[in-house]
Amino acid sequence: MDTILVVNAGSSSLKFEVFSVAGSLTRLVKGKMEGIGTAPHLSIRNAGGEQLANDDYPSEAIPDLPSAMRLVGQWLGERLEGHLIAVGHRVVHGGPNHAGPARVDESLLRELEWYTPLAPLHQPNNLAPIRVLLERQPDLAQVACFDTAFHRGHDPMTDHYAIPTRYFEEGVRRYGFHGLSYEYVAGRLAEVAPDVGGGRVIVAHLGSGASMCALHEGRSVESTLGFTALDGLPMGTRCGQIDPGVLLYLLEQHGMSARQLQDMLYKESGLKGLSGISNDVRDLLDSQEAGAALALDHFVHRIGLNAGALAAALSGLDAFVFTAGVGENSPVMRERIARKLRWLGVSLDTERNNAGELLISSDDSTVKVFVMPTDEELMIARHTFALITAGGTVSAGAR
Ligand code: ADP
Repeated sequence: MDTILVVNAGSSSLKFEVFSVAGSLTRLVKGKMEGIGTAPHLSIRNAGGEQLANDDYPSEAIPDLPSAMRLVGQWLGERLEGHLIAVGHRVVHGGPNHAGPARVDESLLRELEWYTPLAPLHQPNNLAPIRVLLERQPDLAQVACFDTAFHRGHDPMTDHYAIPTRYFEEGVRRYGFHGLSYEYVAGRLAEVAPDVGGGRVIVAHLGSGASMCALHEGRSVESTLGFTALDGLPMGTRCGQIDPGVLLYLLEQHGMSARQLQDMLYKESGLKGLSGISNDVRDLLDSQEAGAALALDHFVHRIGLNAGALAAALSGLDAFVFTAGVGENSPVMRERIARKLRWLGVSLDTERNNAGELLISSDDSTVKVFVMPTDEELMIARHTFALITAGGTVSAGAR
């Protein structure tokens, strides 16, 4: 049995899944090493949800990503049957030129390292396991799957900032992120609702990172994220759209350094900064504090405003899709957001929404509203398999 390993490496966690590729792709195990360097914990489940590992490790045993990779590799090697044919990696930034996944070699890795300043919290961690495997197993096929790739089919006009164009040429442009999630959802929508899947759709990826994407005929034409993963909607700890004048003010009047500004914008802002309580929507929904209400009201307000902008980009709207942690799990938040979209023709069916059905709009809603669990890992496995078997690239918007 041939297998594909999917790796999604963050600052203190290593998420991984293994798929068998006999005929179609089948998920075998899903695991996570958390607390790398502090309180390492490995949990692994099989496809049926049965726990296969649930172990703590001393922090000195797993001080960094390479040691976590070694442990996970060892565990998988000993416990899983099959022949590993490739590893697919989630890489947040592919820059302006990658409109699909790419086979990893030394020169690609160097190119991707160049984008680290554009995604300082994600890119180095995404690339670390690639570097480790390239050194340890140079013959193992590795594929980088980019969160930016799905948006590369945009009309270039939309990806400009209104600053001198030489900066655009240098790479200062709107890239958009969460592309693997949007690509998966676009594919699912085409399967389950081909009537609207080929039309004008907004997908709201509302997790701890949050953004929205305008799809036309299954392809991204606009999104709320831009040059970095800070733009657009307020997120768990990230600020979302902000007047650049605020940053100038903080630099000049508060004497903040670039690093302090970065930490504040990425880690202390969004729902956490607004509420002063938590970055987790569940905590805010449970709280009676004014800060919690402010954060949620603001989040819903900004989603409404941005949905209006994306509907304008599409010249109308046929469907709206909720996905990721908040979108998939919170009927209350879906209801609150849907109320903001009423003017666009959105109306929810309360029972369908509370039950989290696939279609949650009422029969008289002119916009169909869906709840769709996203599956970025499956998307990565598909891309990886397609690339190593066909040897070609998968273009932007491909399913
Ligand atoms: P990530 O971007 O880390 O992949 P997820 O898509 O898993 O994030 O979303 C995580 C977020 O989803 C949590 O921070 C929480 O705010 C939210 N969430 C998860 N379950 C619920 C729920 N039942 N109700 C409200 N929010 C939820």
